[in-house]
Amino acid sequence: MRYAVISDIHGNVEALKAVLDDIGSRSIDATVCAGDIVGYYPDPEQCVELVEEHVRYSVVGNHDYAAIGRIDTRNFTFYAYAAMEWTKANLSADAKKYLGSLPLTMEVDELYFTHSSPSNPQDFIYVFPDSEEAIFEAFNSLVHRVNFIGHTHWPSIMVQDDERIVLHNDDTVDIKPDYYYLINVGSVGQPRNFDPRSCYAIYDTDKQNVSLVRVSYDYSLTQTKVYDNNLPAFLAERLPKGR
Ligand code: ZN
Repeated sequence: MRYAVISDIHGNVEALKAVLDDIGSRSIDATVCAGDIVGYYPDPEQCVELVEEHVRYSVVGNHDYAAIGRIDTRNFTFYAYAAMEWTKANLSADAKKYLGSLPLTMEVDELYFTHSSPSNPQDFIYVFPDSEEAIFEAFNSLVHRVNFIGHTHWPSIMVQDDERIVLHNDDTVDIKPDYYYLINVGSVGQPRNFDPRSCYAIYDTDKQNVSLVRVSYDYSLTQTKVYDNNLPAFLAERLPKGR
């Protein structure tokens, strides 16, 4: 079985289509989404439709919750707030119903999926590769060996062996029995790790390995739509920088 895991699409349909095309060319059996289908970019409706069509399982992200009024957006940054107000006004009732149907956590085939730290999924805690406290808390909470998250838009593969937690530098890591894995699959629609390419992960249960995959897409079209819809210009400007 080969799983593709995508996350943080954020209404960027050009990026999502490129990633789905790439997934389509790699004999993947099932695609899973780790949340944040909407928010920031101007095609939330199309992104929800594509996810419904191509993604077998999805958990909910904080922006998905914000779009259906389930979390407060007062602590969002100004541009996230402005984009969320726009998103709410440009999503159909059907799309909102779909977002409202997504669970906070999901277990598939002994794999565990949450948008943010699995320690308290409802609190949407970020697990950055340099946030020691969040990393320890996340690993302490693990029940499953292989865990997928998103939320930071920063891909990373973290492994706990007998004694310590290691951050891998390689894009492909073998899954060993008895070790615990926290795999951040990065972001489809708004990478922030200084690489403008979309990122997602492939987990191969036969080979027992996980790989991070990068996909280039034409973000100039997304940028034009950001300006045309009067979304914050910063959202367009950050795409080529990948941050
Ligand atoms: Zn996100």
